[in-house]
Amino acid sequence: MRDSTPATPAGLRADFRRHFGGEPAVCRAPGRVNLIGEHTDYNAGFVLPVAIAFYVYAAVRARSDGRLRVHSTHFDETVELPITAGPASVTPPGGERRWSDYVWGVAQCLLARGEPLPGADLLIHGEVPLGAGLSSSAALGMAAALALTQSARRPLDPLTLATLCQRAENEFAGTRCGIMDPFTAAFGREGYALCLDCRTLTYRPVPLEAHQPSDAAAAAPRLVICNTMIRHRLAASEYNKRRAECERGVAALARLLPHVRSLRDVTLDELRSARPRLDAVIFRRCRHVLTENARVAAAATALEDRDFQRFGQLMGDSHSSLCRDYEVSCDELDLMVRLARELDGVYGARMTGGGFGGCTVNLVREDAVEGFRRFMAERYRQATGQSPEIYVCESADGASRLMQAPGEGQSWQRISRD
Ligand code: ADP
Ligand code: MG
Repeated sequence: MRDSTPATPAGLRADFRRHFGGEPAVCRAPGRVNLIGEHTDYNAGFVLPVAIAFYVYAAVRARSDGRLRVHSTHFDETVELPITAGPASVTPPGGERRWSDYVWGVAQCLLARGEPLPGADLLIHGEVPLGAGLSSSAALGMAAALALTQSARRPLDPLTLATLCQRAENEFAGTRCGIMDPFTAAFGREGYALCLDCRTLTYRPVPLEAHQPSDAAAAAPRLVICNTMIRHRLAASEYNKRRAECERGVAALARLLPHVRSLRDVTLDELRSARPRLDAVIFRRCRHVLTENARVAAAATALEDRDFQRFGQLMGDSHSSLCRDYEVSCDELDLMVRLARELDGVYGARMTGGGFGGCTVNLVREDAVEGFRRFMAERYRQATGQSPEIYVCESADGASRLMQAPGEGQSWQRISRD
């Protein structure tokens, strides 16, 4: 297995020539960090993710013989995938789950839509750390979907691509992920978080930067991600379990309140009134989702008002709710959050992603970033023996394709939003 090193278009093309021969086009899709709104997307709630400038790249060259060959530089492995349409299934070719399921799932979902897939060679190279809660899986699915549709000359709009990637991951990679990750990989916007309503799939871009240069006093803090380097084995199974618990909550609440279709239809007062009729664990799961939705709305407004203190408080409340009510944090994440809170210049810290390891996201004043980095690395290492990775991240645009005009520099063209 190789480290995920930053890619250059020239390097990717050279890698592609070595593995497959010929000149590829290059597509890429970003990972994301979710600022607040955890475990709300699959409950038709609100989220506030930012696409980040760590990408999964897919170098692609069309074939006309119906073969789909895929190479991952991370796993240093090439696989050939069947591209005959089959019934939706969670059983991948060979029977075992592997990285190529995400690509296979995308191909299957394209075929199910009646899209032509004449065949392709694909080289995948990722900079998004795998399994760290920064959504390498959606970036992989989106980069592959963009590459396959572009190389077949049948481009799809970003919303179709996002829903297709979600379905591919749900049905072919065995993860019941929500829409947030593929949506952000498609619609991410440099300089903005997306306040996404996962029920209507409409969003409001929320600026991360001050728009008036004179607004120096409210200079944007930095988003700093701390990777615990831990991923507990139960992460995937507990994720699916939480989804099932929320579904049980919806079913129980719908018996009392017939209009309820999702937790989005329930107010906190209604939930409190129903408490005696609900299992205690289910009540807490539902309470997290409802209070988290309210926190996302408040956090988006706080960001628009440049009220970073308030935003930071909401991050802290989110973390507590994820610990106590949703029970998806772990010692390493709690330690990272506790350490961050010891420092001046940190507005807020919380776990991000599904939980049970992965990363925290921190809102840190620009002049405090270097001290924060050193302190977090040292103290986390002292306490756990692990060296954390710490990323000061830049926001990014959603998935795009590299355009190269003869004699000109290279530029990335966003997928059309029309
Ligand atoms: P996350 O999306 O938070 O990173 P997931 O468990 O959802 O975590 O997805 C991680 C999986 O996605 C990996 O185990 C692997 O199968 C696949 N994946 C992500 N990036 C790559 C890559 N660069 N090459 C091959 N597979 C990848
Ligand atoms: Mg994922």
